[in-house]
Amino acid sequence: TKAFLGEIEGAAALNAFVHHTPEIALAQAEAADARIAAGDAPAMCGLPVGIKDLFCTKGVPSQAASRILEGFRPEYESTVTQNLFDAGAVMLGKLNMDEFAMGSSNETSCYGNAVNPWRRGNDDAALTPGGSSGGSAAAVAADLCLAATGTDTGGSIRQPAAFAGITGIKPTYGRCSRWGVVAFASSLDQAGPMTKSVRDAAIMLEAMAGHDPKDSTSADLPVPDFEAMLTGDIRGKVIGVPKEYRMDGMPAEIENLWAEGTEMLRDAGAEIRDISLPHTKYALPTYYVIAPAEASSNLARYDGVRYGHRAALAQGDGITEMYEKTRAEGFGHEVQRRVMVGTYVLSAGFYDAYYNRARKVRTLIKRDFETVFAEGIDAILTPATPSAAFGLGEMSEADPIAMYLNDIFTVTVNLAGLPGIAVPTGTDAQGLPLALQLIGRPWEEGDLLNTAYALE
Ligand code: GLN
Repeated sequence: TKAFLGEIEGAAALNAFVHHTPEIALAQAEAADARIAAGDAPAMCGLPVGIKDLFCTKGVPSQAASRILEGFRPEYESTVTQNLFDAGAVMLGKLNMDEFAMGSSNETSCYGNAVNPWRRGNDDAALTPGGSSGGSAAAVAADLCLAATGTDTGGSIRQPAAFAGITGIKPTYGRCSRWGVVAFASSLDQAGPMTKSVRDAAIMLEAMAGHDPKDSTSADLPVPDFEAMLTGDIRGKVIGVPKEYRMDGMPAEIENLWAEGTEMLRDAGAEIRDISLPHTKYALPTYYVIAPAEASSNLARYDGVRYGHRAALAQGDGITEMYEKTRAEGFGHEVQRRVMVGTYVLSAGFYDAYYNRARKVRTLIKRDFETVFAEGIDAILTPATPSAAFGLGEMSEADPIAMYLNDIFTVTVNLAGLPGIAVPTGTDAQGLPLALQLIGRPWEEGDLLNTAYALE
């Protein structure tokens, strides 16, 4: 723990950690020492981790990287972080992210972006660690912590994991409790681990997961011993390769990576089958209606009264001015854009045309997966991202759609509630990490992790 605290101090330029909690870390590490000495060491005893700023941590700033939550110190601990602490984990601090987890580059954070420790060849230009869990990805890749928590609403664990050359799994919706995780889009949000290896992901997911009566969408199912399921034996497994993920203009290096991954799984004894997920082309527009709709509703609670920031008011200002000024100052541009889009698609005149339509298409996307799983597919192999990490500032704010397109391979998994994992499997011509994604059957994270283990 002391060594990691030192590393974090030396790596301030990465802007990965936004709140440091050395006192908590040292106290937890001492408690872990005592448990080890007493011969009662749980799975993550004494292991130093970083926590995404989206998780409420008791008495510790938890701002979701937003100005509107300035000064907010929760009175309670999120279930996932409590589970990690019960398993002996040590919290080094809170990690940078896009504001309210909205973004794919960590550039919407009120703390400024985190920086990817990777560089393009000899080029010094700083690259994005991806988003929204960019601080988590940067911190794990730069060895500032052993592992980190992330959350994934449309790719926010898998895309930054891919950009930073680490492993990240979004479990089945309902596997991890959302209690105490600041809500973005409640029907899509899931927490998961971001780690150095598939084995670490298995250990950490087991510690994070489990039924929680405080989250009505958390599943009352036993959590398997995921690590014990890592045999590396995938003989007889059927892996689907969906033709709809072969996008026009896909870079050759992504195509090659995908082909190599397919060969690796075949060599390991899996059967490879071409499959079709016909509604894939509607996934991005569907996501970018549903996620903002839910966000606009979830973010209504930031009104200047209940939490954090309240704008200074002028003589004669009433409650409406208080809301307007507080929300205009407290929310960044991307969050404001989402609230506006979400409010629009939920409004009386447009609800059926946009929100209800998107919900129907979401069902069709989910059925595509159900159909291939019913036909015997065990897991689906796709690229994790359409490119390697891009440069900071490269995607201009003037064109938010270009940024949204980055989520093309990841959002379907959230819309269908399935588990998905990004595994680093190669590099591009400039040495930047590239990753493949495996998508699994609901509740079968153990099998999914084992297939990823064969690919690692
Ligand atoms: N990049 C996506 C978005 O901006 C996904 C974010 C996430 O998974 N939290 O909505």
